[in-house]
Amino acid sequence: MLNLEKEVRKLENSSIDMLHFDVMDGVFVNNISYGLPILEQVRKITDITLDVHLMIIDPIRYVRRFAEAGADIISFHTESESDIGETIREIKAAGAKAALAIKPATPPEAVYDYLNELSMVLVMTVEPGFGGQSFIPETMEKVKAIKQRIDELGLDIRIEVDGGINDVTGIEASTCGADVLVSGSYLFKAENMADAAGKLRKA
Ligand code: ZN
Repeated sequence: MLNLEKEVRKLENSSIDMLHFDVMDGVFVNNISYGLPILEQVRKITDITLDVHLMIIDPIRYVRRFAEAGADIISFHTESESDIGETIREIKAAGAKAALAIKPATPPEAVYDYLNELSMVLVMTVEPGFGGQSFIPETMEKVKAIKQRIDELGLDIRIEVDGGINDVTGIEASTCGADVLVSGSYLFKAENMADAAGKLRKA
């Protein structure tokens, strides 16, 4: 965290497509991460797409401010307390792309009514709240179901997976229909980040 600019440059040099930014409020999840001031600073130093994942209890109160701080895509949870349709509208009115996230125990049907309004669906492949957890293979059934639904409707929506993604689980997720692989520990612990990112891209 104290070398954030250096880490952002490293990610850029590894040709990643987006920077995934986890926001935790200590209520929706037990952990507290970072918020608007850090996002504003990151926006100032990079043009990379900023993919903001809000793990907060009442996202509708904050989505406009995250969009103004530089978020390109904003994900929030169906399990939050905000009205889903209104929150999607607020994100889009603020000029960002809207994505809906589901935790491992939430059925895929939770996002179906909103697919027409979304740019992306985020399927959590671990319980949200902490980095470095193991991938939950059962979540792949949901990726398949959502992918099938999107294809049936002929929509252009990406499926993002987040949690425990490495060169092995990344291939599994991609085979099931995931388009966007979020990876933290796997990239940051790799001896060569660009090589590790290349493996994910190949997946
Ligand atoms: Zn995330």
